[in-house]
Amino acid sequence: MRIPMIAGNWKMNTTVSEAIKLVNEMCPELDKINNIDKVICPPFISLVPVSELIKGSSIKLGAQNLYFEEKGAYTGEISPPMLADLCELVIIGHSERRHYFGETGEMVSKKVLAALGAGLKPILCIGERLDDYEAGRTEEVVTEQLSSSLAGIAHPDGLVIAYEPVWAIGTGRAATGEQANETIGLIRRSTAKLYSDEITRDLRILYGGSVTADNIAEFIQQPEIDGALVGGASLKAAEFLSIVRQTSEIRQVR
Ligand code: PEP
Repeated sequence: MRIPMIAGNWKMNTTVSEAIKLVNEMCPELDKINNIDKVICPPFISLVPVSELIKGSSIKLGAQNLYFEEKGAYTGEISPPMLADLCELVIIGHSERRHYFGETGEMVSKKVLAALGAGLKPILCIGERLDDYEAGRTEEVVTEQLSSSLAGIAHPDGLVIAYEPVWAIGTGRAATGEQANETIGLIRRSTAKLYSDEITRDLRILYGGSVTADNIAEFIQQPEIDGALVGGASLKAAEFLSIVRQTSEIRQVR
């Protein structure tokens, strides 16, 4: 049985005081929702105050990125041990990092390895761009991203994968539940080829891309989909709570 997960990626939004306000608005209610992993991923500078606010609650903290070196002359970067003190999870290889900041599969795999080495659970993002989707290259692209991102990783303990078609991120054009389920099934089968059936059975794979309170049920009802990585809607307390609540309720009746 895979515990569902809803992770909120706040991206480059919220000042420290806005992050504190958002946590105060949603976390008391979020804390009460059971049978689901609830993750919030604020910007780096808010991780310390947010970690204090959610201490002792059932809410997990995630970072949005890391650098793969442990320490040293890497101005502006944040290392895995720095995050491991504060966070349980870290988003790696988000399409915005791949496309705006030139992250390659090789860099992503180094980051996944470094995160695992520091005891962090990576939320590894993969997904095809619109031109690949339209040309029917989804399978080719996601399997290549999967194998390059996991190259050299023998034991992906705690790994979570987020399938995020790039054309669905922040566009309001979500995939359908069936489309996402089909590609996530394919990702699960590809992972089984890289690892064992046992590892793959327990591997959580989330959908991400314009998830809202209005469409979350469509995804969660699908057998392969274990939750969602939520961008824009995770910045609205009532909407994020509704997404988490619906996920918990749907999974309980399964
Ligand atoms: C994301 O940032 O991973 C994401 C899926 O964003 P949105 O929900 O806004 O499409």
